[in-house]
Parts: sequence; structure tokens; C-alpha cells
Amino acid sequence: MVVDLHEDIGYYYLMGGSVPLSEDARGRQADIPKWREGKVSLVLGSVFPLLGSLNQRKIAAMEKMYGRWSPSSSLVSPRDVAIELIKIYYSLEKMHQKDLKIVRTLDDIESLGRRVGIVLHIEGCEALGEPEDLEVFFNLGVRSIGLTWNYDNKFAASCLSTKDYGLTGEGEALVAAADKLGVLVDLSHASPRASEETLSSAELPPFFSHSDAASIQPNQRNVSDALIRETGRRGGVVGLTFIRSCIGNPFTPTKLATHAKHLVKVGGAAAPALGTDFLGMSSSPEGMDNVSKVGKFRRAMIDAGLPAGQADDVMHGNAYRFILERSSRW
Ligand SMILES: [Zn+2]
Repeated sequence: MVVDLHEDIGYYYLMGGSVPLSEDARGRQADIPKWREGKVSLVLGSVFPLLGSLNQRKIAAMEKMYGRWSPSSSLVSPRDVAIELIKIYYSLEKMHQKDLKIVRTLDDIESLGRRVGIVLHIEGCEALGEPEDLEVFFNLGVRSIGLTWNYDNKFAASCLSTKDYGLTGEGEALVAAADKLGVLVDLSHASPRASEETLSSAELPPFFSHSDAASIQPNQRNVSDALIRETGRRGGVVGLTFIRSCIGNPFTPTKLATHAKHLVKVGGAAAPALGTDFLGMSSSPEGMDNVSKVGKFRRAMIDAGLPAGQADDVMHGNAYRFILERSSRW
């Protein structure tokens, strides 16, 4: 079984994706047949509230971080874009009722059967005008929020901030609102100071949905040992991601397994999880070009010396426990 803490399913259709999710589309990184083959049971489906754009300053900053040219995004009507994406997920659920379920309650998770559960996750709180808007999105089905994407916003500084102001007062109120509702708070893409301040102020442990270990591969998107330690101490998880610049060289499951071992060493056996970023990245680790092949990562962790039970916890157990604990408030 696999829990994937990050896939950009909705964005595939927002950007004009044209193949139904029920087809095993050649070259597509995730769809229903591939989830089945990869034994994926639960996915955080991203609601990424930005639109593609070109801005040379932002492109230059991202090029440095991702190690390759990548287009920027613009903050045009982020709330409207978020609502459009949520509608896409609703449509997917209606079109594929036997295969998909947007999970809104603990009972939804426990009664999935053979359906794949989707947890709606907002990646960048630009979509919220103020902390109180979280309740509106909660009522629309959102159960997880990433404070920022790569841009600073009114709630927190981002990993690409040129002036790390941490978590703002509005950000603190947002984290408190999330705690009250049991909404997961994700620090992937947030700045180091915003992550630290959230980890020390949140009632419920936050998590990193898709990031690797910074001491294995230095990168603004990766997590420092101090933050891994604190995340583990608080009962949060770090979803290991398949992004090339986060894994480093060689771009292989074996290299990613060294990140997993490091997370166990620094954060404890309950800290590492999986957050691939399939459908949100242009390349993938050797031999794992789509989600049906994630089992190769499990194999690589065992070959690298992790006990099979711990490898299973990375693929499934740790994230499942983390989500289940919060879902009792949903
Ligand atoms: Zn991301």
C-alpha cells in the first residue's frame, strides 16, 4: 500500500490535459490504472491556485533552485483558480465513482475499499483572503494547506524569499484555524523561519508534503536537520519527493533511499513518508517514470539496509497514521 502526499492531479486538467483519468495514458505520470498498479490508496491532490506566466526575475530564482529553466506563475485571481481546481476534483469523482473518493471524514478514509482516496490540498494560501476563509474551503472539502508555494504571501515567507519574515500574524491565525478544523499544515515551499515558527506554535504537528533532506542535497526546497528533528519530535512527517534538484545526483531510487535513511536517523523511524510530485514535474528518477513504479523505491530502501517494516512505513504507515490522527477532527 502507498500513500502519496503530493500529486498535481487537478492541474493536469486545468492546463488542458485531454485524456480521461481512467485511461493508462502513455507518458502521463499518474492516473487510475497506474495508481492501482502502484497500490496507491490515498493521495493528496493539489489545488495549486496559480496560473502559468513568464517573469524573468522569478524565473531566474526558480532556475537556480530547480537546476533548470522553468516558467513562473502569476497570482491572477487565486481564489477563482482554486475554486476551478476544486470543481475539477468534484468532476473527477463523479466521472470515476467506483475508483475515486474525495475524503472528507475519518469514516470516508476507513471505508474506501478499493477506491483511491483524494485529500484536497491547497498548495499556496494566496487562495485565502483571510484566515477565516479556511472554513469556507473546509466546507468545500479541503483538508490540507501548504502555507506558500515559491512566492511570499501575507501568511508566510516562502523558500525563495529574499527576506525571510517567517510566519506573519495572519499566518499564526491561519495555523490556529487549521488546528481547530484538523486541517493539515504543510511546510514544503515555506521558508526556514516560517517552518520553525509553525513547528513551535502549532497545536497539531505540521508536515512537509514533498521535500527531501537538505544535508544530503542542499536545496531551498529541502529540509534542514534541525527542522527534520523537530518535525519528528512533534509527530509530523516529511514526504520524500521525486524532484530532480531535491534528490541530487545520481537521479535514482538508490539516492532517494539515502534521503530516507537520513530522515530515519535524524527524525526517527516515524518521520519519513512519500510525496512524489507526479504530474507536477518534468522528469522522474531512473526507472520510476510514473506512479505505477513507486515500489522500486521500497526495494531501494530495503537494499540500502532499511528493515522491510520501516520501508513499508515510509511508503504508507507513517503518512496514514499522520492523516488519520487529524481526521478525527474533520
Ligand atoms: Zn510543489
